[in-house]
Amino acid sequence: MNQPDPPTLTPQSAGELAGMLRAAADAGHTLVPWGAGTLQHLGGPALPEAGRIGTRALSRVLDYTPADMTITVEAGATLGEVQATLRPHGQWLPWDPPAPEQATIGGLLAAGVSGPLRLGYGTPRDWVLGMRVALADGRLVRSGGKVVKNVAGYDMHKLHIGALGTLGVIAEVTFKIAPLPEQVAPLLFTCPAPAVAFALIDQLRARPLAPISLIVSAGRNDERATPGVLLAVRFAGGAAAVARQVRLAESAADQLGAPRKELDDEHTRALWPALAGFAHPSFTHRNQGAAGALIIRAGAPAAALAAVVEALEQAAPPGCAVRVLGYGGIGLAYARWYLSNPAVQPGTHLAALRARLAQLGGYAVVEGSPALPGDPIDRWGPPPATLALMRTLKARWDPQGILNRERYIGGI
Ligand SMILES: Cc1cc2nc3c(=O)[nH]c(=O)nc-3n(C[C@H](O)[C@H](O)[C@H](O)COP(=O)(O)OP(=O)(O)OC[C@H]3O[C@@H](n4cnc5c(N)ncnc54)[C@H](O)[C@@H]3O)c2cc1C
Repeated sequence: MNQPDPPTLTPQSAGELAGMLRAAADAGHTLVPWGAGTLQHLGGPALPEAGRIGTRALSRVLDYTPADMTITVEAGATLGEVQATLRPHGQWLPWDPPAPEQATIGGLLAAGVSGPLRLGYGTPRDWVLGMRVALADGRLVRSGGKVVKNVAGYDMHKLHIGALGTLGVIAEVTFKIAPLPEQVAPLLFTCPAPAVAFALIDQLRARPLAPISLIVSAGRNDERATPGVLLAVRFAGGAAAVARQVRLAESAADQLGAPRKELDDEHTRALWPALAGFAHPSFTHRNQGAAGALIIRAGAPAAALAAVVEALEQAAPPGCAVRVLGYGGIGLAYARWYLSNPAVQPGTHLAALRARLAQLGGYAVVEGSPALPGDPIDRWGPPPATLALMRTLKARWDPQGILNRERYIGGI
């Protein structure tokens, strides 16, 4: 007899969420934790028989006293909702992932996503003080706390950040929060060659300069884009300190022959969300090829960034347009290989890219791929050294594999 599809579950409280997980484990149903669903196709595909457990009804602010500089929210709140709570008090979470108005706190943490603010403010992992997580056996586990100096159980919740919901469903999160900076100054420089952009990055990272974002945008076969390489920079802080940093940055750029590009207010406002959203499938670009884009995230030691950006450009299939964003000061880069011809099979090119990145101490993960019959994409590449540890954790917290089964590295 055919089993009916498991229904979409919509718990209204953390207790109900935990109870539903317990019931699913008892019945042997697999479940996909579902925030806003904006990027469910990333990671491995969900099993066809898996049900969904939606967190969107869990969106309350549970505790917020501005003077304490902490906030506790349920995981189904969107980042935009949290920022709207903080803003009237001159506070924010310094975190700019893609689609912040739609994506939920739980989904963003589960996917471990940051954005261009990461250089200045670190990753969301650095801002999470504690969590309450529902495990597959129905236990609701708390770790960390509301007080910045409380370190009891501090590391436990960090395991859920970036685990793609395979270890438990995040129910509540406590963040420390930051005061909104008095001023933020965005600058854009046009560099004649990648070497100039990376030399400028080195200068902008030397004291007394302290940019909060440094994003290089380079490309290949990208005829209609601005020629050369763009470097987008932001400074934040008190007005006088920001003005001083802007002057120093302009003078360093002048000496390297990298003129400042003036943008009107509208383009300035659009620039940073566009950079943050570059790896999101909804990002559109004039080079969008007929077959779509392969979206690649590459990590490596920060000092290797120039070589990583070059590898992402050069390893792409011949003839296809490429755009790469490199995060200066952080060994992170995103590439989009615009596959103009559906017959192009990028698998061997991806393998060559990974071989080059391995020499640099780096790796590449595919975050989005067009449907390419006959060329199944190896999403994760060679398994990391931590895979055995991940399997052990999975076996302990979700022994029946009911949460996001087979979607994570190594088929976890
Ligand atoms: C592997 C991966 C890597 C990504 N890397 C980047 C990146 O580097 N740059 C970038 O711009 N964007 C990246 N994204 C996209 C970004 O994470 C999305 O913006 C975010 O997932 C949107 O949140 P959502 O609420 O729509 O969550 P969903 O898309 O619904 O869920 C995201 C993932 O988290 C799980 N999940 C959802 N809610 C919870 C919860 N409360 N507890 C536990 N698990 C939960 C889901 O099952 C799913 O695996 C990545 C996404 C994934 C899956």
